[in-house]
Amino acid sequence: MPGIDSLLADLGDIPVETQPQKVKRRSRDFYWYSPILKRRLDAVTADAIVMPRDEAEVIATLRAAFAHDVAVTPRGAGTGNYGQAMPVRGGIVLDLSELTSVEWIRHGSVRVQAGCRLADLEAATKADSRQELRFHPSTLRTGTIGGYVAGGSSGVGSITWGLLRDRGNILATRVVTMEREPRVLELRGPDIQKVNHAYGTNGIITALEMPLAPAYRWVELILAFDDLMTAVRCADALAREDALLKKLVTPIAAPVPHDYLFGGTVGRAESVVLVLVADFARDALADLLRAWPARIAFEGFQDERRPTEDMLFEHSWNHTTLHALKHDRTITYLQTLFPPPHHVELARSMHERFGDEVPMHLEFVRFAGQVACFGLQLVRYTGEARLLEIIDEHNRAGCPIFNPHDFTLEGGGMKQVDHAQLAFKREADPKGLLNPGKMIGWENPAYDESQDRRFLYAAG
Ligand SMILES: Cc1cc2nc3c(=O)[nH]c(=O)nc-3n(C[C@H](O)[C@H](O)[C@H](O)COP(=O)(O)OP(=O)(O)OC[C@H]3O[C@@H](n4cnc5c(N)ncnc54)[C@H](O)[C@@H]3O)c2cc1C
Repeated sequence: MPGIDSLLADLGDIPVETQPQKVKRRSRDFYWYSPILKRRLDAVTADAIVMPRDEAEVIATLRAAFAHDVAVTPRGAGTGNYGQAMPVRGGIVLDLSELTSVEWIRHGSVRVQAGCRLADLEAATKADSRQELRFHPSTLRTGTIGGYVAGGSSGVGSITWGLLRDRGNILATRVVTMEREPRVLELRGPDIQKVNHAYGTNGIITALEMPLAPAYRWVELILAFDDLMTAVRCADALAREDALLKKLVTPIAAPVPHDYLFGGTVGRAESVVLVLVADFARDALADLLRAWPARIAFEGFQDERRPTEDMLFEHSWNHTTLHALKHDRTITYLQTLFPPPHHVELARSMHERFGDEVPMHLEFVRFAGQVACFGLQLVRYTGEARLLEIIDEHNRAGCPIFNPHDFTLEGGGMKQVDHAQLAFKREADPKGLLNPGKMIGWENPAYDESQDRRFLYAAG
């Protein structure tokens, strides 16, 4: 990319990587979950990786990139799924994983630099005052807090606490703008939404304040059922038990649990519900389960796992897909909302419609105050045309797909141009250098979403 040499010359002793293979490796995320993105993005690479050690070096890098018109794509740990962290127009990848300090911990909240790994953050809050994140992605061990807020949405704990976009689940973000003289802004209250799930297209997050919950001992259970819909109804009943503290309610259809997740523990015909409950809620769960034909296939404390062993939650959310992909590289997946109050009925009809072509995997969540489920169904992929048909059918049936085969913000989830994020980009990134190619509303100001069949559906 023109300008890159001048940019690197301006960086002084800020660490930089230019060795092509290492640069390419750190220009990727988990885009290869999607055969469509794999084909489209395989050749993508940055010209260099820049690794600032503190916020002053972030500012210096952005100042130089602005001066030389070089694109900047931020990166935490690169565990995003849709090419979000991939530099589709080259330039530099700004690796924030050196910004790791926990600035303070209070009763109920923490302030932390953006590159801190989620597991390190939780270790610090637990050691300080027996507190933990309200919820986290199943990539707790690998993902960063900045990458989660800029690219993620929900996860383990969302059945109790809802989604990142819910008011109160992010308390503040500190953001550096991409201008001739970068500004440092502290966004609080409604302003947080300007950068929440914006893929770093309109500012670099350097620090965040996040709410905390008390840390408990969590009990892992695998409940096995003879048929999927009994499992889903039981999961729905459990999800509605507000006083029964839980972090995971995850139905998965046979034969996925046996074939890809827990071979020796679950029969091939058994569907499962993965459950994480607080230890003091275990009796209440036993009481609820008396009404259901559930076989307890596994039970144990999460904190008694060996460090090398997978946690139960590392079979949920997008880890389910990862385990399936290890066995069968032709598998891909969907991300679906089964909206309340008919989520169970909608899941049933899609399961009946597609059967084992689209094995059901649901994550129960609190969605705008109601119980609902997200689908992260597997797809036995037979071609792009068929995948698009499956997506279309879900959308038409009232189950909106957050398309994980599209690397734009609009395609991947928002469905509509987010005008607040677009307006903030005009202000904070006037040259359009931050993670270019990801925000359709910026790339094509004349873009009319109502004319685009992919985005006909209102934001979820
Ligand atoms: C196996 C697996 C399981 C997953 N489970 C979940 C889940 O349960 N819930 C969920 O929501 N997601 C999940 N994800 C997606 C992803 O792992 C999480 O969103 C994760 O927290 C991203 O963190 P990261 O540090 O890897 O971010 P990256 O992938 O590095 O970045 C994500 C996005 O944020 C941008 N970005 C990164 N850092 C910054 C910053 N400091 N400022 C501005 N922009 C930035 C990047 O450009 C990119 O667009 C999963 C992914 C995988 C592969």
